[in-house]
Amino acid sequence: MKYVAGIDIGNASTETAVARIDGEDIEFLASGIGPTTGIKGTLQNISGVFNSLSSALAKLGMDYEDLDEIRINEAAPVIGDVAMETISQTVITESTVIGHNPSSPGGTGIGVGVSVLVTEIKKITEEKDVIVVIPASVGFQKAADMINNANPKLNITGAIMQEDDGNLLTNRLEKKIPVIDEVRMIEKVPLGLTCAIEVAAPGSVISMLSNPYGIATLFQLNSDETQKIVPIARALIGNRSGVVIKTPSGDVKASVVKAGTISILGEKKEVEVDVDEGAAKIMEAVSSVPDIEDITGEKGTNVGNMLDKVRRVMSGLTNKAKSDIKIRDILAVDTFNPQRVIGGIADEFALENAVGIAAMVKADRLQMQMIANVLTEKLNVPVYVGGVEADMAIKGALTTPGTKAPLAVVDMGAGSTDASIIDWEGKVKLIHLAGAGDMVSLLIQSELGLDDFSLAEDIKKYTLAKVESLFHIRHEDGTVQFYKEPLKPELFSKIVLVKEDGLLPLENQDSIEKVKSVRQEAKRRVFVTNSIRALSMVSPTGNPRDIQFVVMVGGSALDFEIPNMVTAELAEYDIVAGRGNIRGCEGPRNAVATGLALSCLQPLDQ
Ligand code: ADP
Ligand code: MG
Repeated sequence: MKYVAGIDIGNASTETAVARIDGEDIEFLASGIGPTTGIKGTLQNISGVFNSLSSALAKLGMDYEDLDEIRINEAAPVIGDVAMETISQTVITESTVIGHNPSSPGGTGIGVGVSVLVTEIKKITEEKDVIVVIPASVGFQKAADMINNANPKLNITGAIMQEDDGNLLTNRLEKKIPVIDEVRMIEKVPLGLTCAIEVAAPGSVISMLSNPYGIATLFQLNSDETQKIVPIARALIGNRSGVVIKTPSGDVKASVVKAGTISILGEKKEVEVDVDEGAAKIMEAVSSVPDIEDITGEKGTNVGNMLDKVRRVMSGLTNKAKSDIKIRDILAVDTFNPQRVIGGIADEFALENAVGIAAMVKADRLQMQMIANVLTEKLNVPVYVGGVEADMAIKGALTTPGTKAPLAVVDMGAGSTDASIIDWEGKVKLIHLAGAGDMVSLLIQSELGLDDFSLAEDIKKYTLAKVESLFHIRHEDGTVQFYKEPLKPELFSKIVLVKEDGLLPLENQDSIEKVKSVRQEAKRRVFVTNSIRALSMVSPTGNPRDIQFVVMVGGSALDFEIPNMVTAELAEYDIVAGRGNIRGCEGPRNAVATGLALSCLQPLDQ
């Protein structure tokens, strides 16, 4: 009888399975998990291994010395990194557009008229539609008086003001008009020109000014002119309020930013692709090169810098020359990124096109042997580098009730999506693809304009709700939950994440639907794309249809919607796919560690 442990050092988590082996029989006793310390495949991993292993042993009241053998993964040494590249830019050369989200615009609706300083309206004697411009030097009370007492011939259809007093002004007006406030550089608003303003009702976004035909209607534009204002409409999409001013020349440009090229080097050919051509073109290039040896980015560009950083970090950690670090795969995803509009006058943001890129490096096996040596010494237990991670994942996944070979496993981790397949004869084939959980969080972070990566992780993992009163919330699926005790007042009317330990408010997010669709799209673009990509590559025929059973494992398979998305997509290929349940009790976790412990039934084959 002997006690063994399998330990899987992943990019994100280090997982342990402890088992007792008696002849041919194996009994699993406990599992452990902890965060991986340092980059996978480096000596920094040791302390994470200690934590993970001791968390399993503690459940059994065992010590390290009680173990007879430990096997660690022959790390598929895959390191992922993610970066974002913005490829379009909105530049305002004259003040034509103010699309911003003041927290409290006044009134609602649309107003069209000539821009006039509020202090000047008394000079106008003819019939006229006007939009009044209110600088900070005129307080809201004075401005309200001026508007209320204006010549009745004057039709005041809206107001643009510098201070954050939109509501205070509206409340004092006899006739309600839409008011846009917080326009900091109000002196840049041109006077004497036709302008249109729109303020959406609370909870919704503007629809007229974010629609090119809407602007064309308001300004009576012809088709050529309409084409020119598309960037303006685009810059205003998703805003609660906006202003468009018709200046004599067209002055908003959406230009493509030169983002550099990516070179994909294969054994037989090299393909170059421009990042600003978008994700589809990049992925087409990637799949056109069969055996990728390395991927590089143009020097001095963001992609160049990002791919270089991956290489530099890896070389620092593995003591290998930078030129020996090879990038084997990238996943590019189209996304958008809110950026400050250049030349804007109210801190406007526009959603710019961007490409998110995940890269993957393969290191080498020696590193794991070094970790095993150090562990052997420190634990006083023989530690071996066990079988290939993919074999182990298959061994572990096959402990899921209802599975048998042939079968494919998709391991969805943090940095990479790994797929392996076992055929009738027990032969295993595996691949590693860039892009997994971290990429999903990065896309969420960028598209929602969050400062904090860990908040993006939370948005990925938890469902949303709206706090409708201090005693009830409405979940994103529409169900209502009541509370006996009042919720904290600061949660009122906020969108929140429903976490195990309470509600976490999301600041500056105005609709559940938006956050939800960003979340789901990010997951789909990474994991559905990668599952299909992975399965086509491991499929014996190159066609995913020739695979029948797929088991999803890894941390991202814990997600409340990713496995369902993949299951639904693969069902179209007639593939039975589902989340693994390792040993019938671990869910999708612990597959590789379980496989490593199982492998202790056989002697090491070397
Ligand atoms: P690795 O094998 O690379 O160490 P894991 O299998 O531990 O990775 O998976 C880590 C990934 O799983 C991270 O991207 C993390 O955000 C994600 N993850 C962990 N728990 C959950 C969860 N409950 N829902 C969604 N994603 C999760
Ligand atoms: Mg893993």
